[in-house]
Amino acid sequence: MTSLDVRIGIGVDAHRLVEGKPLVLGGEPIAHAKGLEGHSDGDVVLHALSDALLGAVAGPDIGALFPSSEAKWRGAASRIFLERARAIVEEKGYRVRQVDIVVIASEPRLSSHVGRIRSRLAALLDIPEDAVGFKATTTDGMGFTGRGEGIAAQAVATLGR
Ligand code: MG
Repeated sequence: MTSLDVRIGIGVDAHRLVEGKPLVLGGEPIAHAKGLEGHSDGDVVLHALSDALLGAVAGPDIGALFPSSEAKWRGAASRIFLERARAIVEEKGYRVRQVDIVVIASEPRLSSHVGRIRSRLAALLDIPEDAVGFKATTTDGMGFTGRGEGIAAQAVATLGR
């Protein structure tokens, strides 16, 4: 019997918006008065995406792989996390086939950055741009994202052999 060897993973992350930090989402710099607080560069998109890849192969999460207690990850570019997650996926014999990501934020408006971020994610994952779902939503003023206190992201990844 043949089986459809497909894996699906989910990742979620959120970081606080603070003054005086550059904002990076999906590996792309975004011009904004605030950035995301975090031990690394705070890129919620790459963090959620990395955890989605790792979750699909029942791997450790990025908090376990890159503990915030280790000084060497301070200010780290989060593409390092995604590259490691991809390497773990590939060591287990899978390839990333498709991802879908939603950013939850009331600020900044991301519509003018969507194309650039999608291109970056496709390059980082080595998949076509039409296999990268990327969009942003607000929460109608509700909750921490609605109040502009932070930005959240959710990601789903599909892997195949
Ligand atoms: Mg994070």
